[in-house]
Amino acid sequence: MEQAGRKSRRSNQLSEDVKSRLDFRAFYLRFCLPVRQSSTRIQALCPIPKHSHSGKGRPSLSIDLRRGLFHCFSRDEGGDTIRFYELMRGVSFSEALGEMAGDLGIGGTRRNSLTVRAAPDTEAVAQRDALPVLPTGRMTLICEAFLERCKCEEQTEGVNYLARRGIDATTMLHAGLAYFPRRSYHRVMRHMLDKFSLDELQRSGLFNARARLTFYRHRLLFPFYRCGRAIFLQARTTASGVEPRWHNMRGGVPSLYNVDALDDLPSGRTVDPGGRLYRYTHAFGAWL
Ligand SMILES: [Zn+2]
Repeated sequence: MEQAGRKSRRSNQLSEDVKSRLDFRAFYLRFCLPVRQSSTRIQALCPIPKHSHSGKGRPSLSIDLRRGLFHCFSRDEGGDTIRFYELMRGVSFSEALGEMAGDLGIGGTRRNSLTVRAAPDTEAVAQRDALPVLPTGRMTLICEAFLERCKCEEQTEGVNYLARRGIDATTMLHAGLAYFPRRSYHRVMRHMLDKFSLDELQRSGLFNARARLTFYRHRLLFPFYRCGRAIFLQARTTASGVEPRWHNMRGGVPSLYNVDALDDLPSGRTVDPGGRLYRYTHAFGAWL
């Protein structure tokens, strides 16, 4: 009884921490396309799967950005951001809380938390282990195997995320982007361990010193191509509040895109590096 009380106090505290750290607008816009929005309110077509809306008619979802609350007038259902996440993902309260806290990098101080176990190695660990970086050929094979495996997994979240930023599925395909859904984490990790030695996976930066796949909080994958081969990967987080926004394989970022140097170029400009057409997209600070 006392233990249950402690657990519920802890989850209440965590849920307050999560909500205080969330950018409510960014959170809700991960899931819905607004029809109208102001500084305090968003109105949108309700995307909650079990409501089975037709997608036509008046937008039934109203979001109060000051308090972070939503309400679907059509089904008379509402609540806070955690409830919204539960409904969108079909998960329990504690799963929703755990995933949202994980995305924000909080509540993960417990040693068994996946956010902690999957974290990329710190500079201190990398220096201690002093693993040599992999030669390009092996790095390419690992990048390509990881990309191909992720593309076999559910891509909807990644496709929707990019669509909200004006990047359609054709561009996503053209740029070779892939999404690594959280639910596939263990399956993809096992697949990579079946194909490559742990030593090589750690040297590539795909795995950390704890033998875990590191692309856990950064799951939108941007390959760097040279002559049609994916020689390097960078991944971006799709969650609000996660810092840093990007995570890389180990070693220096090779050619093709240099975000700092390209920052001043206007959006929509096209170039042709390495035989592919890319468009500089300011939404990501990247060539797509
Ligand atoms: Zn609804």
